[in-house]
Amino acid sequence: MVLTAYGGRCVYCDERQSETLEHEAPLASGKGRDIWWNLVPACDRCNSWKQKKSAVEWVLNMKLHHAHPKVGFCRNSLPLHVVKGVKDRIAEVKREIQDAPRRTWFERHYGDKKTPRLRREKHEEVERCTEKMERYPYPPWESRETRHSDQYCTRVLCCGHTQKNSTFTYVTLAKSDREDLKRMAYEKGLWIGDLIGTLLTPTPEEWRQSQHDDDEDPQGGA
Ligand SMILES: [Zn+2]
Ligand SMILES: [Zn+2]
Repeated sequence: MVLTAYGGRCVYCDERQSETLEHEAPLASGKGRDIWWNLVPACDRCNSWKQKKSAVEWVLNMKLHHAHPKVGFCRNSLPLHVVKGVKDRIAEVKREIQDAPRRTWFERHYGDKKTPRLRREKHEEVERCTEKMERYPYPPWESRETRHSDQYCTRVLCCGHTQKNSTFTYVTLAKSDREDLKRMAYEKGLWIGDLIGTLLTPTPEEWRQSQHDDDEDPQGGA
């Protein structure tokens, strides 16, 4: 949930891919807690540069370093214009992570998954998650829930297709048509399958009608 926030980028340098969960207030300081709302996505480089400092202390050190480069406030620093944006970016990413529908969506989709032990496996999982989210034209948690459930995701954009008296069928569409249909579906608050269903429903009805007309024709002509 945290690593996919902020477009998957590091909140500190605003440039590299996020690779690690960074405690904004470090555990070592006694103020930080090992809980999701204290975590921000960061790259390994920023994580190692920040060391055990809090984000506020680190930003201050880097600013002092730029003002007095010879004093030695820190060995490595991000460019000044990047340093200046850290506070706002942290606030932005925290708003994103704390967004209730987004959290619920992650809980419903990944809540029962165990965090893989290996770093490589963790990153593969994040990649799969990012890929999944990119399939939707809009963040799926922004779409309406089709019904109330405490356990399952019923958002129309991703899992809203589990409806009574219906069954799956496949349609073949050009990629561009499919992309536009997804946007249409989102705007109408429908799951894409339901939208295609509504569009198709008159067709079998017309066909049934025509079959019926054919049956009656010989008598009608007599
Ligand atoms: Zn970084
Ligand atoms: Zn879903």
